[in-house]
Order: sequence, then structure tokens, then C-alpha cells
Amino acid sequence: MIKLYDTLTRKKREFVPIVPGKVGMYSCGPTVYKYAHFGNMRAYVFMDCLRRVLEYNGLEVKSVMNITDVGHLLSDADEGEDKMVESAKREKKSPYEIADFYTGQFFADTDALNIKRPSVTPKATDNIPEMIEMVKTLLEKDYAYETGDGIYFSVEKFPGYGRLSKIKLDEQMHGARVDVNENKRNPIDFALWKKAEPNHIMQWDSPWGKGFPGWHIECSVMSNKYLGRVFDIHTGGVDHIPIHHENEIAQSEACYGIKTTNYWLHNEFMLYDGGKMSKSLGNAFTLSELAEKGYEPLVCRYFCLNVHYRQKINFTFEAMDAAKTAYERLLGQLYQHKQSAAKTDAAVLEKYKNKFEKAINDDLNIPLALGVLWTMLKERKSKDIYETAVRMDEVFGLKLNEARPQKAEQTELPDDAAAIAKRREEARAAKNWALSDELRNKLDEMGYSVKDTKDGQIVTKK
Ligand code: AMP
Ligand code: ZN
Repeated sequence: MIKLYDTLTRKKREFVPIVPGKVGMYSCGPTVYKYAHFGNMRAYVFMDCLRRVLEYNGLEVKSVMNITDVGHLLSDADEGEDKMVESAKREKKSPYEIADFYTGQFFADTDALNIKRPSVTPKATDNIPEMIEMVKTLLEKDYAYETGDGIYFSVEKFPGYGRLSKIKLDEQMHGARVDVNENKRNPIDFALWKKAEPNHIMQWDSPWGKGFPGWHIECSVMSNKYLGRVFDIHTGGVDHIPIHHENEIAQSEACYGIKTTNYWLHNEFMLYDGGKMSKSLGNAFTLSELAEKGYEPLVCRYFCLNVHYRQKINFTFEAMDAAKTAYERLLGQLYQHKQSAAKTDAAVLEKYKNKFEKAINDDLNIPLALGVLWTMLKERKSKDIYETAVRMDEVFGLKLNEARPQKAEQTELPDDAAAIAKRREEARAAKNWALSDELRNKLDEMGYSVKDTKDGQIVTKK
């Protein structure tokens, strides 16, 4: 049994798919106006682990992740310039060039993190007619109204508004900025469609003149289009709970008259210096910046897996160093297991497999599952252990099958020892076994032991 924590009910609930054996899953994707940062990537590592856990359990997953290439304004609550347009102006390119470039960069990052590509990645700009249709329906059903600058959803018409964030309507109104848009009947009404100024560079024809869609309607439309009216799981970061997802629920339920999402799952933030990691706060690192600092993408993935997705994760370079060392050690230990011809009792392997499955199926307790892996690695070296770990890696996605001798074991040699080790490597390559043995003895006298593996020699301090 898989249990997932559902934000709407604030409970861990048994996961029961709508169609037995199959899962439809929607994840809010990136707004492709600049490089994604490591904090954003936490959301996609979580999405990926969820999918992998479902697949590990034999479920066939259709994963949909949208690409927002229009309509996401500088503030999530419909204020300011469109992020795409702003970026296009800054970089002196068209919004489509901006979108293409940053979409490419985004997938390069997710590939490097070994995040499986979603089954469908629809772009908002490819779904404008469907968005117009949905806005029309909401107007017909009297959930929306037209103003001088757009079409707005009237939250007062939707009694369930605030159900996801558990914030009552009057509390939200109290907190909202009232000076923003005088055309709105209620300050927290949100845009379904924005009318464009004549010189706005992204605009489409609509029954309300030229304009562009609101950000929230994009996800209501694309989830419905690719997964059907009711689907299993919707994911996103916790920042989406109070506005974006609340609005999505209001639009979809008002339009279709039914509850459209069965489980809402949200990942917590990655923090830096106690605050949310965010480009606009200038405290965010991209994956390439981290790679330059010596943290390869799979170390970044390992770092994310160490903390449960519903807990905040603190980014520090000390913690990243620890993740790097641990990941290297993990690969090193697995390598030793892989080299061993010894056998492990099937019952022992089964015990670890069961513990692992219990952890991942308990609302994705990946940190606990990693703990099970580490404990298993302490068993006597055997290839069976390695193979069990590789099966677990279907969930971790850490490329454990690329097990390699621990880098640290080989590198920390002073110059004189390193020179001898190098000569010995050359001697072995030339099949000069006598010289190779002589150099081994030399290293031995200097206090180093030498191990020959099929991937070369490993020299360690005795
Ligand atoms: P955006 O491209 O800004 O819409 O964000 C993409 C995803 O990253 C959303 O699901 C956000 O909730 C998530 N996100 C943004 N910043 C962070 C962070 N510091 N930690 C975790 N997730 C984040
Ligand atoms: Zn969304």
C-alpha cells in the first residue's frame, strides 16, 4: 500500500488510482524566462521521485508537466509585467527565443539530475484556444466577469475558495493589497484573461479583443486536456498552495462541476541563509554554478534526497560537501560489493528490500530508504547486495550502477608517492610485472597499500 500526504485533507491517505494500474500526474512546470536554480530543481527531483516510487510499485504513470511561456506576471497575483516579456526586453530577443533557450537549459539540468522526462510537456502558448474556451464557459456560468483590462474570476461565487490553503476568504481579503486594480470587484479576484495594450508583444485574438491568458488557467486547461477531467495527482512547490493551486481548483471545479484532482502533493522549500532560495533575492545557484564549484548534478540530487520532501532543506556549502563525500563513499562501497563473488542469504536481501519498500511507500520517505541502503552496505561484501542496491536505485535515480572506486582513496597522495604510483600504472600497462612488483614494494615501504582492480590500481594509506 502506498500512502501519500494530501495537502487538501492534511492527511496521509492510501493512494488508490482512478484506473487500476495507471496514474495520471500533473506537475506545475517552469516559467522559462531565466535559468532555473537549485531550489526550483528540488521541486522536480520530488516530482521524479514520486513518479519513480509509483513505477517501482508497478503502476504505469502518465506524467504531464507544463512549460509556462506566457501569462506568469512578476507577482503570482496578477501584478506587473509578464515575466517572459520582461526577460525578452532585457535580453533584446523575442519571447519565443527566450522560451526556447531557457526550456533547453531547463531540460539539460533535469537530464543531468537524472530526472525522467515527463510523458508530455505542453507549452502554454500551444493551448490558447482551449484556454479561451474555458474562460468563455466560466463567463457563461457566471463565475467570471469582464472589466476594462481583462476577465476575472469572482472568488465570492465559489464557496470552496480557500479550501486548500485553509485561509478563509475574509482573511485573504484582509491581507490583499487593495490599491492594485480598481476594476476588480474583490481584491483577490484573479485574472483568467488579460487584455493586451496594442504594443504588448504576446497577444492572441479572443472574444474580448487581443490579449493573453492568466497563469492559473494554463494549468487547469493542460491538466484537463492531457489527463482528463479527473486525474490522480497534482504536484508543485508549497508557494503554489495559497494562490496558484487555490485558483486552479476554483476554475476547474467551477467549470466542470466536479473535484478534478484526487491528491495534492507539495514540496517544501530549499532555504539559503534562512530564507527561500530565489533568484530575485540573489541567493540562488544554478546547477552549472554548482558544477563549477565541484558539486556534480548527482551530488545535488543526493543532497535533495537526504531530506524528506515535506521538510525544508537548508542549503549550505558544508552540507553540500558532506553530500559529495557521502555520494563518493556510496559509489565506492558499491564498487567493492560489485567486485565480490560472495553470496548473501536471500532472506537477508529480502529483509532490506522490505524495509526499503516500507519507507518509500510511506509518503516517499526517501531519507529513511537511503538509511536502509547504507545499513545494507555494511553487510559482508557481495554482488547480491550490489544488485539489490541497483534495484533500489530505480527510485533513488543516483546512477548507482556507475559504482566506482572512491576518488578520495586514489588522489590524496603526496608528489613522491604519486610519481611512483604513476610509474607503476605505466609498468602494468606495458605488462612489465617485475617493475610493477618492485614499485608496489616501494609504495609499501612508504606506508601505502596497492590494490589492483579492473578499473586500475587504488593506492591507499595503510
Ligand atoms: P517557477 O519557475 O518560479 O514557477 O518555479 C518552479 C517550481 O519551483 C515551483 O514548483 C516552485 O514552487 C518551486 N520553487 C521555487 N523556489 C523554490 C525553492 N527555493 N525551494 C523549492 N522549490 C522551489
Ligand atoms: Zn501550475
